[in-house]
Amino acid sequence: MTATEHFDVIVIGTGAGGGTLAYRLAPSGKRILLIERGDYVPREKDNWSTKAVNLQGKYNTKEVWRDAEGRELHPHTNYWVGGNTKFYGAALFRLRREDFGEIKHWGGLSPAWPISYEDLEPYYSQAEHLYQVHGRRAEDPTDPPASAPYPHPPVSHEPRMQQLSDDFARLGLKPFHVPLGVMLNEQNPRASRCIRCETCDGHPCLVYAKADAQVLCVDPALGYPNVTLLTGAYVSRLETGPSGRDVRRVVVEREGATAIYSADVVVVSAGAINSAALLLRSANDKHPRGLANGSDVVGRHYMGHVNSVLMAVSKCPNPTVFQKTLALNDFYFGAKDWDFPMGHISFVGKLDGDTLRAGAPAIAPGWTLELMAKHSLDFWLTSEDLPDPSNRVSVDRAGNIVLSYQPNNEEGHTRLIEKLKGLMKQQTKCRVHGHECHEGLFARSLYLGQRIPLAGVAHQNGTIRFGHDPKTSALDVNCKAHEVDNLYVVDASFFASSGAVNPALTVMANALRVGDHLLERLK
Ligand SMILES: Cc1cc2nc3c(=O)[nH]c(=O)nc-3n(C[C@H](O)[C@H](O)[C@H](O)COP(=O)(O)OP(=O)(O)OC[C@H]3O[C@@H](n4cnc5c(N)ncnc54)[C@H](O)[C@@H]3O)c2cc1C
Ligand code: SF4
Repeated sequence: MTATEHFDVIVIGTGAGGGTLAYRLAPSGKRILLIERGDYVPREKDNWSTKAVNLQGKYNTKEVWRDAEGRELHPHTNYWVGGNTKFYGAALFRLRREDFGEIKHWGGLSPAWPISYEDLEPYYSQAEHLYQVHGRRAEDPTDPPASAPYPHPPVSHEPRMQQLSDDFARLGLKPFHVPLGVMLNEQNPRASRCIRCETCDGHPCLVYAKADAQVLCVDPALGYPNVTLLTGAYVSRLETGPSGRDVRRVVVEREGATAIYSADVVVVSAGAINSAALLLRSANDKHPRGLANGSDVVGRHYMGHVNSVLMAVSKCPNPTVFQKTLALNDFYFGAKDWDFPMGHISFVGKLDGDTLRAGAPAIAPGWTLELMAKHSLDFWLTSEDLPDPSNRVSVDRAGNIVLSYQPNNEEGHTRLIEKLKGLMKQQTKCRVHGHECHEGLFARSLYLGQRIPLAGVAHQNGTIRFGHDPKTSALDVNCKAHEVDNLYVVDASFFASSGAVNPALTVMANALRVGDHLLERLK
């Protein structure tokens, strides 16, 4: 097969990594081809329908994966221009400075990254500007040092969230405003693109006010005549030249036909699971275990965080519309009674009956799902899982994805849940029910938790780790494959450890960093 068209750079995937990289490279004048398996998310009322999005999974991929036992897995992931940022909650956190070093956890060691926080810091600031992050520095006690303030003020709390924030502060904690990528202007609501609605987290934004990779990166990049986007284009394989040292052909399945493209530099950014699968599918004589996989790490060390959604139900309703404004990191590195990291406490978007029906927690006695959702505070708890080589992505003979995962490092998460339970019992009296509003309900165990199952791959990372040593990593510090001279990976695959905050801002910042490296290389 001969290549049909040659580019300076091909970027595979247009999410947090690929989209951001395209934005950085676009002004260079280099010929850039973006290859995306999905299409644009259609703009339609269903964008904001919890029934369509959460219950019917309208925008989820229908692809079926398998788990280690061969059982079907219906992954909660999305293949569209902008990738999963079209659906994310836009909580845009930096990793903590300490996350870049080695950290001792209850379940083992979280390894150090091959770069320091200071290496990434300038790019975090750039990414916060690009993705219009709203927040307030130094409220969060674990906040790493930053060279610039957030570009926008924090998103304010609605009254119930402010009350909870005050309660936490009264207990000596340091609640803070979640850094959020929404184009909200609270000072001038008429000029605000964002209307602060209840269907943000998990939903595409109908009015393009979410700071996602399509709106802020891919579309502006396409304003340059040197950038081309192919949608509905699935990259099935990468082929090298005879030496195995360079990718010569990018094999694309589109509209029932196979097309071949080539480029001086090929960047894979298909998401941590799909990127690993692509390299594994691309095994050849020179790379028998998968492309760039002499180390045998490709696909391994899959991480996705230990996550729980916990509903605290009270007699009083929770009328909050936009709930994802408040977070706590007081237990991120441990507590007085526990020396190991526990993790991060924040919120999901406000749950409703339809959303609950999709993942149905046990119904509290005497409640309906609708009523529970009206009376709940819906917490999202994240703890770090550790990179275990046997937690891995592999492909079966037909090239289909198999995801094998055993949760680890769970004790910190269990203790984090206990901490939250303890805090919720100490809320101030409510005017109508007094302490009975909260404490009484907790005493009757109306406190419902659900661990996110394996199909919840939202925070996938770590499957093509970067590092100094080609024996233990697949990528070098610039995210170039050790074994292939023109192959890079810029999605969440490169993570050496996962920290316990949401991953997207780190993916974006790193894409800008690798972008600068590529601009030098392509000069
Ligand atoms: C519901 C939800 C809520 C989330 N909330 C947050 C949050 O609040 N904060 C946060 O930091 N993170 C959040 N995340 C996670 C965040 O979206 C991801 O960390 C981020 O998008 C990862 O970026 P990526 O570039 O690695 O992959 P993606 O953004 O997933 O992009 C990968 C792209 O590659 C394309 N692709 C895949 N395979 C191929 C192929 N073979 N050929 C061509 N194209 C391909 C996909 O279609 C996709 O566009 C959330 C995720 C979900 C699903
Ligand atoms: S309008 Fe604002 S809150 Fe609603 S989906 Fe868009 S960005 Fe999110």
